[in-house]
Amino acid sequence: MTAELIDGKAFSATLKQDIAKQVTVLKEKHNLIPGLAVVIVGEDPASQIYVRNKNISTKEAGMNSFEHRLPEETTEEDLLALVEKLNNDPAVNGILVQLPLPKHINESAVINAISPAKDVDGFHVINSGLLATGGDAIVPCTPLGCLLMLKDKLGNMSGLDAVVIGRSNIVGKPMAQLLLNESCTVTIAHSRTRNLPEVVGRADIVVAAVGRPEIIKGDWIKEGATVIDVGINRVPKDDGKSRIVGDVEFDEAVKKAGAITPVPGGVGPMTIACLLKNTVTATCRQAGIDEPDV
Ligand code: NAD
Repeated sequence: MTAELIDGKAFSATLKQDIAKQVTVLKEKHNLIPGLAVVIVGEDPASQIYVRNKNISTKEAGMNSFEHRLPEETTEEDLLALVEKLNNDPAVNGILVQLPLPKHINESAVINAISPAKDVDGFHVINSGLLATGGDAIVPCTPLGCLLMLKDKLGNMSGLDAVVIGRSNIVGKPMAQLLLNESCTVTIAHSRTRNLPEVVGRADIVVAAVGRPEIIKGDWIKEGATVIDVGINRVPKDDGKSRIVGDVEFDEAVKKAGAITPVPGGVGPMTIACLLKNTVTATCRQAGIDEPDV
């Protein structure tokens, strides 16, 4: 069997088009322009690229983008003051503080200072609590993107065996919660899991979010399983340059899986699209209106 490729690039392009249509309806019918504020502290090169891409995508969708670039030496107090200002700014519907923050700043203090209604990354404890208890959470973007692709591929997932490898607060745990909410039988595997091949081998759905190149071997995958590879790992090439690989041994997994996301071009492009989606969701909830059907 050769797996069907789940094309995250194409999926995210369609999702972004739908979001742009929603934004048009919000403007025309409700006189609302969703606004996303992105705060970056310091010069981390990867973060700079992420923030630039978020800014471009936000504007392309017809939303307002407010960028706040702060120097590395910004104090926690000053950052908290900016978050408070954005919490109170009616033009700002979503706030994202780019992680990681410099070491002298307490990340969870900053994240939990964001108004939960504007927390479009979905990292606030109120949003993780709402997700865990089946409420109207804002769901972290990467697991939300994975869920949308899984639903598109599989439809009803009730009763399927799912394994999530990785238990981080931003990917693994919310992903497991989302799959549980879809009535999957969910296993969370992590660095202490015994017999990972056996755990992976019984899963109909595999979501790998570890951050180790090709740690999930292709021959572990159950025949016909759906595989979502969240990992982004840079590995050196013979010519001194580097390439990006996922957490799954793609060339072998493709022979066993029913469907699989490539890296790059799978989960990655969905994350920004879901950030825009969350900004529309937040805007509509703040205004007390339904999200436009497009
Ligand atoms: P993290 O380092 O916070 O968590 C990694 C998890 O992997 C941990 O829970 C750990 O228990 C588990 N783990 C480590 N070694 C293991 C092993 N040998 N066997 C089984 N489990 C093991 O990472 P994260 O922030 O959750 O990110 C995971 C990966 O996803 C990274 O490669 C990251 O770059 C990528 N990522 C991609 C996107 C995207 O948009 N595509 C977004 C976020 C993260």
